[in-house]
Amino acid sequence: MKIGIVGLGLIGGSLGLDLRSQGHQIIGISRQDVTCQTALKQGIADRASTKFTLLQDVEIVIVCTPIAAIASTVKQIIPHLHPDTIITDVGSVKYPIVETCSQLWSNFIGGHPMAGTAQSGIDAAQANLFEGAAYVFTPTEKTKFEDLERLKAIALDLNAIPYICDAQIHDRAVSWISHLPVMVSASLIKACLQETPETLELAQNLASSGFRDTSRVGGGNPELGVMMAKYNRAELLRSLAQYRDNLDQVINLIEGEKWQDLEQVLDINGEARPKFLN
Ligand code: NAP
Repeated sequence: MKIGIVGLGLIGGSLGLDLRSQGHQIIGISRQDVTCQTALKQGIADRASTKFTLLQDVEIVIVCTPIAAIASTVKQIIPHLHPDTIITDVGSVKYPIVETCSQLWSNFIGGHPMAGTAQSGIDAAQANLFEGAAYVFTPTEKTKFEDLERLKAIALDLNAIPYICDAQIHDRAVSWISHLPVMVSASLIKACLQETPETLELAQNLASSGFRDTSRVGGGNPELGVMMAKYNRAELLRSLAQYRDNLDQVINLIEGEKWQDLEQVLDINGEARPKFLN
């Protein structure tokens, strides 16, 4: 298949590497010429340019720009596309993007490959990034069955697992497992920094795997964190409020020295956690 990838960063570049290795012809489009040159050198794209005209006969376009630029990018590429072209995106938030873009192009299907790293930019692109990860698609009532099947086939080419769901439910679910953890983890690091210098230095020297695991997502790309909060605001506020309630309950149990009740809470969580990590 001839596939256009617009926005050759971590996600766009990684998609290009894997889809090209599966025999697809990749047309890469990015904002900066230097990024296009790197894409060609690293085998991410067969052809690469800053000009949307290269997209004229692609069958699928995957928009991989930052969330804030997805709708405006879709608007800009539309005049260059064949009417049957499928447009999808990779944004970590789906409802506001799908609402806008499906009005602009009836063959727009929201997408979200659930894999990434803390790095950004084309130099962070890596092969097999999506292997074993979920790849969510959020069709609308206008979506054609065969278009969705073609996107599912792309996910399978990446060795990812395609999931189909409603855009709003996607945003609620990722708020719990992706956006809330970023805010909680960032708050953990920030709270530690409020310690006295002596204690802070000791804590930094003693920190090991537990702190590494719990602080990892809070120390990532700040731009991405702000985008999550801005574009998934309502769902994130809802999950943060429920998280705060649970934190208050734990504080109450500890203040009241209700050790058995606390053990019960921790026990339930120990059993529940593996279900999130299969
Ligand atoms: P990234 O590494 O920063 O790459 C984005 C690329 O888009 C940049 O290389 C840049 O190309 C181009 N770009 C930047 N600003 C632009 C603008 N205003 N207009 C047009 N193009 C622009 O970001 P990423 O991590 O790949 O994220 C891209 C998308 O994937 C986001 O929508 C994000 O929500 C989604 N996503 C990210 C992850 C993750 O873990 N990072 C996971 C799943 C989905 P130039 O180099 O040419 O300037």
